[in-house]
Amino acid sequence: MFEKRNLKAALGGVISMTTLASGMFVLPGDQTILASTNIQPFDENIVIETKRGLVTVIPENTGVSQEFHYGHPGLDITASLGSKIHPLKDGVVVLMSFTRWDYGRSVVIDHGNGLQTRYAHMGKIFVEEGEKVTTDMTVGEVGLTGRTTGPHLHIEVLKNGRMVNPRSYLSLTKAN
Ligand SMILES: [Zn+2]
Repeated sequence: MFEKRNLKAALGGVISMTTLASGMFVLPGDQTILASTNIQPFDENIVIETKRGLVTVIPENTGVSQEFHYGHPGLDITASLGSKIHPLKDGVVVLMSFTRWDYGRSVVIDHGNGLQTRYAHMGKIFVEEGEKVTTDMTVGEVGLTGRTTGPHLHIEVLKNGRMVNPRSYLSLTKAN
């Protein structure tokens, strides 16, 4: 279904237009975004490694710069530029998009059972469409692409195509 292609060459150049391989995750403008209250969270933390190689679990509350709300269908987690992004669950990369606005460089991973996660404003991306990923893999780095005023990870959780509050799925705990 998804054409496997190597995007490494594209990462070094100037990307001036949207290269969406599929529009299936783009919400129509009139779609209502609702936070479901009936979700089973899973246990995995967001783990971000700094450039120095230290493993850091996002500190509770202090790392979130913008909550999920109408008009912002994701969670913003501040992190230093170049911090490594691991997927929240094992899955398959189903979409990569590159824009100068909105998400910037972003990746969508399908975890099965109607669950997908999107990681936006990325800098470097180390995966390609069709690639299987595990939670210990680095899919990319926190960057400054798209509409962002500072380095952070914008993460979205899609349940059956609907954006839901990532906090229902994330456990944001302080690193030991
Ligand atoms: Zn955001």
